[in-house]
Amino acid sequence: MREREKVQKLLRPKRLIVKQMSITEYRYGSLVLLKSDLLQKAGKTTHAFTTRYGGVSKGIFKSMNLALNRGDSSLNVEENYQILCENLGFKLSDLVFSSQVHEDGVRSVTGGDRKENLFDSPPYSADALITSEKELPLVVFTADCIPILLYGEDGDGNGTVGAVHAGWRGTALNIAGKVVRKMREEFHCLFESMIAAIGPGIGSCCFETGSEVAEKILKLPIQSASDYIGEKNGKTHIDLKGINRALLIASGLKRECIEVSEECTKCYGHKYWSHRGTKGNRGAQIAVISLTAGV
Ligand SMILES: [Zn+2]
Repeated sequence: MREREKVQKLLRPKRLIVKQMSITEYRYGSLVLLKSDLLQKAGKTTHAFTTRYGGVSKGIFKSMNLALNRGDSSLNVEENYQILCENLGFKLSDLVFSSQVHEDGVRSVTGGDRKENLFDSPPYSADALITSEKELPLVVFTADCIPILLYGEDGDGNGTVGAVHAGWRGTALNIAGKVVRKMREEFHCLFESMIAAIGPGIGSCCFETGSEVAEKILKLPIQSASDYIGEKNGKTHIDLKGINRALLIASGLKRECIEVSEECTKCYGHKYWSHRGTKGNRGAQIAVISLTAGV
């Protein structure tokens, strides 16, 4: 090879294909789910963030509506759950839910918290669930609010999972940090084992809010909270996903162990349920995670 060719070859950028770990979309026929590459790679959990695609609901609930009490046909909602559970290998009767109240309650759940009837209201409220029991899928509902799924393990490799519903109120109350603390204190999860996946939720593009919300966010224990607050047409816009990511880092998680879905539920209203995009006439998606048996 002539010297000049050698130099040119050296200067040519190498085509290094480095796959960024991220939230990846999976299609199973018409069913579309998102999964975290990091959680998949860890191989200890079964999890998903659902979308509007792949269910049997009709009208304004078309098609994968997983809200239990927003006016959809209960037969169709149950069928939607069956489709999802078959795909993920869950038993519908194993799912554990909570009544979500936009606060910062974190509940450790066990098999005793399974519901007898899918449409029964759980006898407790909490916006985050944690368990170390296997095959106990934890569910949170969202439709603009931010869903977060977590995994961690103790020094003996025993796993714990968490599912969080973080709207602006939960975010301002640092529910993400409270879940991490409980996983650490009650379940002895090691920081270096912890993974968090922040699913699709409303982006700063569409989360227009009042200055009182910004004031609460500025009091959170994160560096540069103001970086997540902006202004568009004289209105305050807040990056809830970014703040939750910062709260997880401030709680001790490694930044490379946190993945964030870039999709905004309002901008992608055809794909996700958005409370703002539908003015409240909507279904809901879920984020679900379970420790897999036998791993
Ligand atoms: Zn948006």
